[in-house]
Amino acid sequence: MKNGARRVAPDAMDRWPEERLAKFHLHKIRQLLRHVYRQLPFYRQRLARAKVDPEQVKTLGDLARIPTFSKQDVLQEIRRQGRFDFGLETIARRDPAVLCMTSGTLGSSFLYLPRKWRALRGDSLLRAYWWAGLRPGMRMLMAVPAWHSLAVQESRVIERLGVSTVVPWGTFLPRNAGNFIDAISDATPDFVSIFLPMLFAILAECRRRGAKPATVFKSVQSILAVGAPMTPRSRQQLVHELGVGDIFEGLGNPEGLTAMECASHCGHHIFVDCCFVEIIDPKSGAPLPVGQRGNVVITTLIPHGSIFLRYDTEDLGVILPGACACGRSWPRMEVYDRRANEVEIAGQRIVPYDVRICLDELPELVNLPFAVVRGETKMERLTLLMQKPASGNLEEIQARIANLLRKKPNVEAIQEWAEELPQRWKGVTVIEEKDWRRARV
Ligand SMILES: [Zn+2]
Repeated sequence: MKNGARRVAPDAMDRWPEERLAKFHLHKIRQLLRHVYRQLPFYRQRLARAKVDPEQVKTLGDLARIPTFSKQDVLQEIRRQGRFDFGLETIARRDPAVLCMTSGTLGSSFLYLPRKWRALRGDSLLRAYWWAGLRPGMRMLMAVPAWHSLAVQESRVIERLGVSTVVPWGTFLPRNAGNFIDAISDATPDFVSIFLPMLFAILAECRRRGAKPATVFKSVQSILAVGAPMTPRSRQQLVHELGVGDIFEGLGNPEGLTAMECASHCGHHIFVDCCFVEIIDPKSGAPLPVGQRGNVVITTLIPHGSIFLRYDTEDLGVILPGACACGRSWPRMEVYDRRANEVEIAGQRIVPYDVRICLDELPELVNLPFAVVRGETKMERLTLLMQKPASGNLEEIQARIANLLRKKPNVEAIQEWAEELPQRWKGVTVIEEKDWRRARV
């Protein structure tokens, strides 16, 4: 581990000037294009249909000529061919590999991840854990389920950094929160890597047990949370309640996106050493300028295993303008939600994150569960279902929320209070009107 430990500190690539990064991307993408055109039938057919010769891609802008594809296309190919490896995988028979699953509302697909993929992605991810404060010799609690591609990369980070690990019993479902509390209390980790909704489940379980979260997390210096967007107020309150040094939000998907907050907490730096991100107009497919919300399209730069080239993640995101206070040059992005969770209210398109930002203005509502009720017909007003706060005058709170939502995102809202949101709706930010009506009967 000594030799490995010497190599682990991240290099200076995150401070490369913009021009150098663009040159790096163009070189990597052109290499990748040649590779997929020669080796992978899925892309060869798509490029031929779109009449794109890889040699014609001479600038990063030319990349937009290559058609995007989404999970639907992947699932359709799996069904059509009756096999998981449908032609976007570089399979080297001699290189040991693992097969991971991607879950989702649409269905599961598979990722073929050979040893070289694990090494390159894991070494890139090490930088994220380093930024979050993980150092050699520390003890880390990891909570990623083994079927997830993050577990494959995380195990590499653990090896390279030389940290010891604690794995609690059970996956990150709320019913296992008790096991997580016991594991943290018994094993006293310095660092916790966790699925954000599970952190809320742990807090709820602490309340049920009458345990102080700061006592449970006494040994923990920092937390890396993934799986759901955290607003700035929500993060501050969590840091305070858990008594930890800091909480960092990581962003990623199994198809290749890695992005990570730095200590400035102003968006997520895109890990440009392993992925290239574009934001496109969901209707026209045209790339959008910095600062505009659209669909997040990713291209992996790792030429091993399953290769995703201009994959439309159907997430709604933005590349943030301006430089980061930390001085790193890697561009920053924010992902708000799945596009499917966007609702239109009197011509305004909003996602639950926009509502969360408003609710967080009121200290008594920070981190309190809520849901947007999606109407069956056109909506003129936003219907919010909220869990009652422990303190405060409800009428007054309601009026303040209505005012805030009128300012930004500029929608009229009606609100309903619930003693507690049903378990099945916790963590679900958009519920359908018919399900809500049924629950009220
Ligand atoms: Zn930064």
